[in-house]
Amino acid sequence: NTVYLNGDYLPLSEAKISVLDRGFLFGDGIYEVIPSYFGRLFHFQEHMERLENSLATIRLANPHTREQWLAILTPLLIGTQDQYIYLQITRGTAPKRDHGFPENTPPTVFAMCSPIVPMAERDSGVKVLTMPDSRWKLCNTKAITLLANILHRQEAIDQNCAEALLVKDSYVTEGAASNVFAVIDGVLMTPPKSSEILPGITRDVILELAQKNGIPCKEESFSLAALQTASEIWITSSTREIIPVVECDEKAVADGKPGPVWHKMNQLFQTYKQSLA
Ligand code: PLP
Repeated sequence: NTVYLNGDYLPLSEAKISVLDRGFLFGDGIYEVIPSYFGRLFHFQEHMERLENSLATIRLANPHTREQWLAILTPLLIGTQDQYIYLQITRGTAPKRDHGFPENTPPTVFAMCSPIVPMAERDSGVKVLTMPDSRWKLCNTKAITLLANILHRQEAIDQNCAEALLVKDSYVTEGAASNVFAVIDGVLMTPPKSSEILPGITRDVILELAQKNGIPCKEESFSLAALQTASEIWITSSTREIIPVVECDEKAVADGKPGPVWHKMNQLFQTYKQSLA
């Protein structure tokens, strides 16, 4: 398995960084996850735009142009299977541990490729658990500092659930590593973009497919109480696509089966992926 590290392609086992790397010491870095279908990076420009926004927020210069990124990442793709690029940039390795930004320190740039393994429960649906959102105030930044997300996800796993749905001031924000959609009173809803959610690329694709195909949809916040009345709930992300939720807080969502809007959207999404091949 070949990975990219600071200009070199090398076996994963040989890719090493210093213990003084600020990613390791402080979680001082950002990342991206870009899926690839049929050998093509999916919505590459949108992922690059989000990468640029994340870098700007943490005041780290982008080490490469979009063209350079494409040239760096493409050789990591293996054939035409479904796979994803994980890409991380940290503020590099400074001579000593100090919170302030180091001077004249190049960033650490790392990328690797992994197969997308479809979730076994994809078509039958998953269980989720809701809980208060304990994350920070820059959730629109794809920061590698994921401790709160990890604790949320593990709390869900401990309860035999696939995802934690996070609730802030009684409104649903998103999942620990996914965006959330709900069909409430016949309308497909997802919270609007803000600093409280990561602007998911999958989320944007779904909204566009809904609009183009006459599925009523709204970018509007909904409360936990409203979620409990939903006829469908989905979680979405680049590596899991669109997953129907059939149980929320130990209560069945509608009849406990993936709903008709999910079936329709999943079909539209698969057709859209094919169309880009
Ligand atoms: N929200 C969070 C917190 C995430 O970590 C992710 C992705 O892993 C998403 C949303 C979904 O984003 P995308 O569809 O771009 O993968």
